[in-house]
Amino acid sequence: MTKMEPISLPLPAFAGGTKAMTLNPVVGTPHREYAEMFIPGEEKIEDGEIRVTVLGSGNPWPTRAQASASILVEIGNPEQDIFLFDLGTGSITNYASLKLPVNALNKVFITHLHADHTGDMLTLSGSFSKVGRADGPVYVWGPSGSEPRLGTKHFCEAIEEALAWNNAADKGAINPDSMRIVVSEFDYSKTQVVYDANGVKVTSFPVVHCISGAVGYRLDFAGLSFGFSGDTRPSWPLVRACEDVDLLIHECFPPAKVLAASSGLSIERANIAINAAHTSPKGAGKVFGLVKPRMAGLWHTLISPQIIPMIFEELKNEYGGPVVQTQDLTVFNITKESVVARQAKQFDQLPPIPGKMRVPYTPVVEEPPEWWAESLINLE
Ligand SMILES: [Zn+2]
Ligand SMILES: [Zn+2]
Repeated sequence: MTKMEPISLPLPAFAGGTKAMTLNPVVGTPHREYAEMFIPGEEKIEDGEIRVTVLGSGNPWPTRAQASASILVEIGNPEQDIFLFDLGTGSITNYASLKLPVNALNKVFITHLHADHTGDMLTLSGSFSKVGRADGPVYVWGPSGSEPRLGTKHFCEAIEEALAWNNAADKGAINPDSMRIVVSEFDYSKTQVVYDANGVKVTSFPVVHCISGAVGYRLDFAGLSFGFSGDTRPSWPLVRACEDVDLLIHECFPPAKVLAASSGLSIERANIAINAAHTSPKGAGKVFGLVKPRMAGLWHTLISPQIIPMIFEELKNEYGGPVVQTQDLTVFNITKESVVARQAKQFDQLPPIPGKMRVPYTPVVEEPPEWWAESLINLE
């Protein structure tokens, strides 16, 4: 019998680590040298490349180390398209760290309507319109539910309605079109192409999570592909839709005992969370073995230096390929030659970068309410 070697992974970024948490950060033979850390603003996306950045790797309780669910995908096409897959609380804070244009951030694909996947929708619609997302609406794609009230259309209309005061208050100062949300709701139960433009194709497929109306996505561009589970139990439609993708990011929860001990959930609740809604490390390994991605990413995982080696230990009995435990600001460069995983340097305080404006708008000053005249303190 060989002696068990303990798994030695890089530290999490919040504990001082600077590398992606993996034993295999590079798959294939890169055609260029990659700096050890990804420095935002210093590496332009290449023609024909897909760059995937985890904006939110975490849980329904966002922490300073882990924002809630969100993945950013940048495309090396002439349009330099940017896509968001989910937009959980805190993930927009991580976008602000990447030196990318705000105006380009207008396409969101929602996997399901849990609040930890949608919390920053208010900020994107209501606040980013003030700081550069100026040309027009936010476009949202998302699944139907088993009834209209449980679908993406209802959710987005309700957000627009909830922003009535916000949007009335900003009227005149910014393009009113930028305060709109335009929704494309599709049938959650079918595997189908839901977006096809500028060389980018996005396919949705149903997944098994809590109730009907959760999906995952596959994105294809220039012969490269990215698969994303959203929240799910191990499920066949995902395996069928994501076969042989270059990068598969799949959710993974720690074993129930560990989840209970580290999250404050009772063991009963932790068991229900994992068995009824999520994927264990063993389950993730099984899915990776069936999909056979070039690189696999674990995601939506409670990260601690104690938990992650346990997950890798359990996973390796099922799957021997390259796996990254994603954290906030883990970056994947996907090219024909290689898939490379790194951590991005974090910038805590940057001004927003509006980016290229295509729709000119001249602000107008609205009449103030009459009662202000008597209530304002005169500073002259
Ligand atoms: Zn969920
Ligand atoms: Zn979730």
